[in-house]
Amino acid sequence: MTAALSLIRNDDQSAHASPGHPERPDRVVAILEGIAADQQLAALPWLDAPVGRRALPRLVHSEEEVRRVEGLAVKGGGWFDPDTYCTEDSYVVALNAAACASRAAEAVIQGETRSAFAVIRPPGHHATPNLPMGFCLFNNAAIAVRAAQNAGATRVAILDIDVHHGNGTQDIFYADSSVLYASLHQFPWYPGTGHASDRGDPGASGTTVNVPVATGTSAARWLELFDDVVLPAVDAFDPEFVVVSAGFDAHRDDPLAELRLEDATYSAIAERVRTLADAHCEGRSLWLLEGGYDLRAIAASVAGCLHVLAA
Ligand SMILES: [Zn+2]
Repeated sequence: MTAALSLIRNDDQSAHASPGHPERPDRVVAILEGIAADQQLAALPWLDAPVGRRALPRLVHSEEEVRRVEGLAVKGGGWFDPDTYCTEDSYVVALNAAACASRAAEAVIQGETRSAFAVIRPPGHHATPNLPMGFCLFNNAAIAVRAAQNAGATRVAILDIDVHHGNGTQDIFYADSSVLYASLHQFPWYPGTGHASDRGDPGASGTTVNVPVATGTSAARWLELFDDVVLPAVDAFDPEFVVVSAGFDAHRDDPLAELRLEDATYSAIAERVRTLADAHCEGRSLWLLEGGYDLRAIAASVAGCLHVLAA
């Protein structure tokens, strides 16, 4: 029997940590505690987490990018840029996070589960083909897309609901008409990319959809833009699989950004994604944790999404 929703996590995520940094292991701990405390969510099945292999990041990153991460870890760790740390364990942790993303994508495409949520760290959507950046080492969403395509999905849509623009994911698929990348993000804000006029290379025009939103944007306005701009583009694209770059830092309580989404907004987003995936691809969606730095908000918002996906 196909499960409605399965979960996956990389248990070594706690080894990727830097004192005082907001992208911290407690984020995942808070989500897992929220799941354990909820009778319905605690009963959800977990997929076994595979061991990461170097071939996974190489699906979307250059050899140089992978060497950068591996090399800094082997040296004992350090910083790729003022935001982005690496510990001696971070290379292996990031490989394992990517392996969870890849495994979950395969589980959905192969019909083991209708949907999946990967509670993984480090996040991925800022990592470009050649550079780790913005707290991100390997681009988990992009790796999941390639894994899904290798498992038989042709057209894949990525919905990036993180408050920051996923510049890395956009770069990876900018010239690829088989992948739709759609993002709503605070603008101007880190990393500075994501203009509405950036729509993909001429050969892939329209498969990049950027919706920059102003500081202070309300939940109602955010959902209106999602309905008016993102959903029609995804409908027209007719995906066989939907990947959600699930960042929760557009929440009003988040310390790293200035939008005003609420706990219930994330359930509302999950309802929309579920309806979309039901209409196009038998409900097949994969949610990958990206940002979200207020522990209460992230635990409550993830739980809301899980309830919608499990129903
Ligand atoms: Zn973010």
